[in-house]
Amino acid sequence: MKYMDEYRDRDAILRLAEAIRRTVTRPHAIMEICGGQTHAIVRFGLDQLLPDEVTLVHGPGCPVCVTPVEMIDKAIALAAMPDVILCTFGDMMRVPGSEHDLLGIKARGGDVRFVYSPLDAVKVAEENPGRQVVFFGIGFETTAPANALAVKTAAARQLRNFSMLVSLVLVPPAMEAILSAERCAVNGFLGPGHVCTIMGSEEYEPIARKYRVPIVISGFEPLDLLLGIHMCVKQLEAGRCDVENQYARSVARAGNAAARALLQEVFEISPQQWRGLGPIPASGMRLSEAYRDFDAEGRFELAGVVARESEECISGEILQGLKKPCDCPAFGTRCTPDRPLGAPMVSSEGACSAYHRYRPALAPAQTGECA
Ligand code: SF4
Repeated sequence: MKYMDEYRDRDAILRLAEAIRRTVTRPHAIMEICGGQTHAIVRFGLDQLLPDEVTLVHGPGCPVCVTPVEMIDKAIALAAMPDVILCTFGDMMRVPGSEHDLLGIKARGGDVRFVYSPLDAVKVAEENPGRQVVFFGIGFETTAPANALAVKTAAARQLRNFSMLVSLVLVPPAMEAILSAERCAVNGFLGPGHVCTIMGSEEYEPIARKYRVPIVISGFEPLDLLLGIHMCVKQLEAGRCDVENQYARSVARAGNAAARALLQEVFEISPQQWRGLGPIPASGMRLSEAYRDFDAEGRFELAGVVARESEECISGEILQGLKKPCDCPAFGTRCTPDRPLGAPMVSSEGACSAYHRYRPALAPAQTGECA
């Protein structure tokens, strides 16, 4: 198939849904990792085409949602400093920190600018030699190479006024944390297509073997996702636990060698706190020794930041596949995109935002059920 429409062909979608129905004989819970996959599933109603035995649960693959509140508070503290320009992606502007968000700091005079790429922030630093420019670098393996390139570029241009607040995370350790949890509700995974474009599919093979769980690397269009679900269901029914690649048009087993080399040069693996999931060993990236001068946490005094989470937000349980957005008592009432209590309601890849956008009538107060 060459064109987008072909991946959204209604008859092909219905045939595939029927094939899944004919394959399944018992209950299976399948977690899609990426927030982009969650949005496509909810937007196109793919979960509603599946037989009752197949439940889709939503994973931790929304970069904004898993950025720890402490890091958002640090970004806010930086943005409030008079000589600092804080650059970040637009999605981060309205994510609630402990007390404020970046948009609020901007309204009070903080110099917060949203950019489309980390390299744009390097350009801002070049244009403002008298001020410190900090890029708030969040995301998964997908966006990490662009962050690495920005730091490398700043180093090559000897920019002393550029630094990065780094909150980059890795998918495989999060999957292991979910699978190791006492209340794990996941039988199989749709693997993260974009992440695997960079990292390849091979690093998922030990996870599939260790936890005896099928992992199907999947794309983001309706036929990609249904085909991935069908492949996963076939494995579950047969008792297999392999890594399979539905998204072969973008993902190679070894990934993108140049991007991986760049990551290895600029970053090193570190422990990482995940919003909603807590600390996960070896699940983050920090600047390597050679580039440590560009670490905003080393350049600025941020030790006084004390983070506090919303007591109402159940995003941690949603990100582990234990609950769905409409199970949250605040969904669509006290928490809306205009007044979000948690990141998943405001992020363009957040599960709560997907449900609110495409299924607003599912607020539990209105229906008493979550489908
Ligand atoms: S609806 Fe709002 S409060 Fe509830 S889990 Fe989602 S983001 Fe958190």
